[in-house]
Amino acid sequence: MIGFEGMGGITALVSSLPAVHSLNVSVSGSALRVSTDDFRRAILRGDGVEQSLLAYAGEYITQISQRFACAVFHTTEQRLAVWLLLLIDRVKDDVIQITQERIAEHLGVRRAGVTVAAGAMQDAGAISYRRGNLRVNDRKMIETIACECYGTLAVGRQQTTYI
Ligand SMILES: [Zn+2]
Repeated sequence: MIGFEGMGGITALVSSLPAVHSLNVSVSGSALRVSTDDFRRAILRGDGVEQSLLAYAGEYITQISQRFACAVFHTTEQRLAVWLLLLIDRVKDDVIQITQERIAEHLGVRRAGVTVAAGAMQDAGAISYRRGNLRVNDRKMIETIACECYGTLAVGRQQTTYI
């Protein structure tokens, strides 16, 4: 998951090969775009951009490995809670327009699994969900549902500003 704190295409930092991944935008917002050549020139300027990007790349690798472990060891409800917390931290809003199908894609689970997990959260009053509008009603409750992975992945856990 990438938000205001990061960037897509981080592999251009360490590889000149064409990217093998694509990015999907799930929540609307604005972003900046830079060519690979301009990106590499910025790195070579030596004004600290490289150190910031390397720090972000380390955080990104941590996210990938932690989310993989989370997918193996934790329940769909715990993973949904982590994912929601990571998302609202990035969009800085408690209301998100997103379908359960899209959430299922992000979590790598069946939509039915998201329906059950989100239903339990809604029954508990942690969220409201209606026709693609998800509202976080009780962040503290979601934090109690989330596994320890959120603490590892939370934005700003090291108080770092990358870019
Ligand atoms: Zn987890």
